[in-house]
Amino acid sequence: MEELKKYKWMIPLISGAERNTRRKLLKNLRKKKDRFYPEGGFNADIKNLINCMLCPNMCRFDCNTLQAAKTEVISPAYKARIGYYLTVGKIDPSDPENKEFVDLMYKCSNCENCKIWCPFDFSVVSLLETVRDDLNEKGLMPDYCEKQIDKLKETGTIEDYNIFKTYEEKGIENIETDGNDDVFYYIGCEMMKFPKVVQANIELLKKLGIKFSTNLDKRVCCGSPALNIRDLDTITSLASKSVDLIRKSGAKLVISGCPGCVRTLTERYQKNHILEEKVEHEDEEIRGKDVTEEEEQFSRILYDEGPEVIHIVEYIERLLEEEKLMLHEVPKKYETVTIHDPCLLARNLSNTSSIRKILGHIPNLTIKEPIYNKEFTHCCGWSGTVHWADRDIAIKESENRISELKETGANIIVTACPECELGLAYGIDENEKDTIEIIDLSELLIKAI
Ligand code: SF4
Ligand code: SF4
Repeated sequence: MEELKKYKWMIPLISGAERNTRRKLLKNLRKKKDRFYPEGGFNADIKNLINCMLCPNMCRFDCNTLQAAKTEVISPAYKARIGYYLTVGKIDPSDPENKEFVDLMYKCSNCENCKIWCPFDFSVVSLLETVRDDLNEKGLMPDYCEKQIDKLKETGTIEDYNIFKTYEEKGIENIETDGNDDVFYYIGCEMMKFPKVVQANIELLKKLGIKFSTNLDKRVCCGSPALNIRDLDTITSLASKSVDLIRKSGAKLVISGCPGCVRTLTERYQKNHILEEKVEHEDEEIRGKDVTEEEEQFSRILYDEGPEVIHIVEYIERLLEEEKLMLHEVPKKYETVTIHDPCLLARNLSNTSSIRKILGHIPNLTIKEPIYNKEFTHCCGWSGTVHWADRDIAIKESENRISELKETGANIIVTACPECELGLAYGIDENEKDTIEIIDLSELLIKAI
C-alpha cells in the first residue's frame, strides 16, 4: 500500500486521459512484467530500472553530471535505460564496441540530486550500482575501476602507497591508542591530502583536553571507493580492519572530517551487510561450537552497541552548545564567506545546519549563501565514479560549481569534506588561484579560537 501511494500523482493524469489511451496505458502497465522482465537471476534492480527508464526524466534538469557533459545520454533515465539493456543483453556488455555504454554506468557523481526531485524517491546511482554488480560478476569491471581496487588491495588506501604512513613528512602527529580513548579521530585517505585540516582538528581536540587517538600506523581506507565500484570482498577486508581498530581504541565516539567515511562506516556498511555476512559465515563454519565473545562483539560493535560515528561539524556544534568552546573574530580576509555544502553531508547525512550554526558563533562573519545550497547543493564533481570514468566531465562539474559559488561575491569558500576541497580546486581558473580560497571549516575555526 505504501508503495502505491507514490503513484497517487498519476491518478488525475490517467483518469483525465481519453478512454482508449487509458485502456492501453493500464493494459501496458499490467503487462509490463511479462514483457520486460527477463528470466534468470540478476543483481540488477530490474523493476526500478524499468520504472526509471519509463519516466520522462523528471529530475534531469538538476543532474550535475548531465549539466557538465551536455549530452542527453548521461541523463538519469537514459542511464537507467542503458543499465536495463546491458542487464538483459539487448546491449551486449562484453562486446568491446559497447564499451561506451558500460562506461555510462560509472558516469555518475553520486550526488543524489535525482533523489531530491524523484517522485519515486529513486537515487539513480543506487540503481546503477546494481547493474555494476552484474557487470562485475561477468568479469567486466572497467580498467579504471580495477586500478582503484588494485591500489586498495596493495596499499590499503586509494594511493599507490599507504598515504596514512606519510604523517611524519606532512607534520601530522600520530596518536596511538592505549585502549582507553574517549574519541577516535578517524582521518580518511583523502583527508591525508590536507594536513592543515588534520593539524587543525588535532589542535582543537588537544585544546579541549579530549582523550583521543588517530592510529595512523595501522589505518586503512574505510572502503568507500570499493563500495562505489561494488567490490564487496575488498570492502569487507578493509571494513574488518577499520572496525577492529575502532573497537580496540575503546572510544564511544568516532569523529571524522570526511562525510564519505562517516556514511560508509555507518549506513553503507549496514545497508550492504558488510561484516554481518562475515560473522554469519563464521557462525556457519563453527556450527556446533561456541561463538567466541570476541566474534560476538565484532558484529555488535558496528550496528547495535557500537560507538556513535559522526561528522566533526556535528561534534563541534555539540561543543558550542555545551559552551565548551568559544569562538572569536576571524581575520579580516575571512569575514565574508560562502558555503559549499558537500552532497554527502547535506543529502546523505541530512546535515545542513551544523556548518551554519558553527559559523553563526563567529562574531564578525557574514555568510553569502549560494542559490543552490543546503539539500539543493550541487556537486564538486569528485564524488562517485565519474572522475575515473571521464575526468573532463568531473572537471566541468567542478567549474560549474565554482561559478555558482563565485556569484555570491565571496572569495572564501567554506566546506567540510576533503573530496569537495580536492574537486573544487579543479574548477578554479589559474589566474584566480590567488583570490579564491577553499577552506575547511576546521581550518577556519582555528583562526577563531
Ligand atoms: S530518478 Fe526518478 S525522476 Fe529521475 S528519471 Fe528516474 S524515475 Fe524519473
Ligand atoms: S546521482 Fe547525481 S550524477 Fe548520478 S544520475 Fe543522479 S543526479 Fe545525476
